[in-house]
Amino acid sequence: MIVPTSRLLQAAQAERYAIGAFNVYNMEGVKAVFAAAEAENSPVILQLHPSALRYGGVPLVSLSIEAARQSSVPAVVHLDHSTSIADIQTALRFGFNSVMADGSHLDYQQNLDFTRKIVELAHTQNILVEAELGRLSGTEDGLSVADYEARLTDPALAAEFSRTTGIDLLAVCIGNVHGEYRTEPHLDFPRLERIHHQVDIPLVLHGASGLPEEVIYRSVELGVRKINVNTEVRNAYINSLKNSLDRAVKLDLIDMMQASVAAMQAVVAAKIQLFGSSNQARNF
Ligand SMILES: [Zn+2]
Repeated sequence: MIVPTSRLLQAAQAERYAIGAFNVYNMEGVKAVFAAAEAENSPVILQLHPSALRYGGVPLVSLSIEAARQSSVPAVVHLDHSTSIADIQTALRFGFNSVMADGSHLDYQQNLDFTRKIVELAHTQNILVEAELGRLSGTEDGLSVADYEARLTDPALAAEFSRTTGIDLLAVCIGNVHGEYRTEPHLDFPRLERIHHQVDIPLVLHGASGLPEEVIYRSVELGVRKINVNTEVRNAYINSLKNSLDRAVKLDLIDMMQASVAAMQAVVAAKIQLFGSSNQARNF
């Protein structure tokens, strides 16, 4: 069932867990996310990157929204990392439940102006807005950041930015990176703690693929309520297809698709358990 994103977040806040936000690209991804969320009885966020939106268009969005509606667990469909007002207007028309206005490539004032504009647009339709301050390094779906030196979120600016723009969720840059961690992840928890004290909206952690358990637990303790997972689910999908191609004597497309769904489902279920949202659907 689709519930307002605000309700999902309030419940996560009250029970102190994070909701997994999983990127999908096709029906197998959608099936995997809902199968895992239902098996775990967990609220869930299904998200589409603008590149997936451009690739799949209305059919992919309709599939995602209908699957969310029919699911037994509380769910929303979210537009990830959108840098364009046009994409966000499309998403609002298509019926997304929340959007990310990503102005993190802009300077502070431009990011603020861009984000505020999106908030004005989205809030007229009761759509929640996530924004990002600072800049993640790494790559995500063709969004490549040339300088791998991350610019981290400034706690005082984050407070001002959140108040001024009226956003509902803030994505933080505290040493997290998109894609795979090339070295041991070092998240700046003192910084996250200051952000958590100064900003009174739920925080979002991007780039959670490959983060160890204790890093996730600490992040959730410090106010992270939405955690984005893309790379690990995608890798499970690709590896499963590779295995099917390597192993099968006679290829069957449905068998291959089912195997890929199962592989992605296992990753999503493990993340849901890690984020503490298993069984939390009972409170809706
Ligand atoms: Zn991201």
